[in-house]
Amino acid sequence: MQLISPNKVFRGKNAWEKSLPEIVKISKSPLLLGRSLITRSLRSKISNDLSQLNLKVFNSELEFDCCEEDLNRIYNLAIEQKCDSVITAGGGKVLDAGKLLAEYLSVPCITVPLSASTCAGWTALGNVYTTDGKFLKDIKLKSCPKILVCDHSFINSAPKKTLSSGIADSLAKWYESSITSSSNKDGIIQQAIQIARVLRDQLFIQAEHAYNHPSEDNLAWTNIVEANSLTAGLIGGIGGEKCRTAAAHAIHNAITQIYTNKRPLHGEIVGVGILIQLRLEESKNNNKLANQSINQLVKFMKKLNLPITISELGINVFENDNLQKIASFACRKESEIHFLPFEFSEEDIIQVISQFESQKITI
Ligand SMILES: [Zn+2]
Repeated sequence: MQLISPNKVFRGKNAWEKSLPEIVKISKSPLLLGRSLITRSLRSKISNDLSQLNLKVFNSELEFDCCEEDLNRIYNLAIEQKCDSVITAGGGKVLDAGKLLAEYLSVPCITVPLSASTCAGWTALGNVYTTDGKFLKDIKLKSCPKILVCDHSFINSAPKKTLSSGIADSLAKWYESSITSSSNKDGIIQQAIQIARVLRDQLFIQAEHAYNHPSEDNLAWTNIVEANSLTAGLIGGIGGEKCRTAAAHAIHNAITQIYTNKRPLHGEIVGVGILIQLRLEESKNNNKLANQSINQLVKFMKKLNLPITISELGINVFENDNLQKIASFACRKESEIHFLPFEFSEEDIIQVISQFESQKITI
């Protein structure tokens, strides 16, 4: 069985208002989950709107990233409060935490992305981190969210860097799926890869304009928001696991093992992961176009103020055994890096990353 999409997707202007009658049908006492200070006023609007419809709303905030400590604490509170749904409003980690809680509580989940930073509002997956932000594991859920509310005015209030981070995460869909699944003969997977290519092209064409003019009246902005929040999720839904991740995400997971006070966003790290994956393809899979792709991507990423090296993420790989730590986490047995269809060793990863970090990228 494949988990392809949420049951209902509301999108565009006033998507939140349009979703309310559907939410009322499935819930009387929702848990409303969020995290950051920046989204608090939006979450209180959401809470008030629900209360006005006579729903008994239980508000709860995560203290950390999506971690077991928070999940256990809030799970117990939600049981006490007899919550019958989870409405999760925030960025990717808040959405993941809400989806996991809903699954543990066996209640429907309603995702309300408050930024366009990931496709977590769509997918049947949850990434779990430690309290200090190290990636631990991803958990496959039994279903996609029941309702996804992609409200443009909610998302428009998010900081600009969440959009560029989401763009880098969406780009990864093409660079990861095309290498892991291009020889797959399944027609649906082939089509998912082609959607990833069209998505990448749309990002190349419209992302800069969207980033520089983040307005609900800017078609480029609405297209990119939906590309990140919806289309990227659909590709994973129809393409399956191997269409979602390969080396770029494996390197992301490994980089999160090293503390950096810059606290980069998920997509910002994945973007650097794409560049490193391409270097690996160049050296170990004879990809003659890798250098050209890297140049094109670096130019594009710079326009969006995205980091292009691990050092720009705040980590010096040549200190504290960091290079070794990143390579060994990226190559651990259960890592998605092993979806790559060619041979390489931990030593190759060390070599690629150390060359990558030493080079002067001057585009
Ligand atoms: Zn991602």
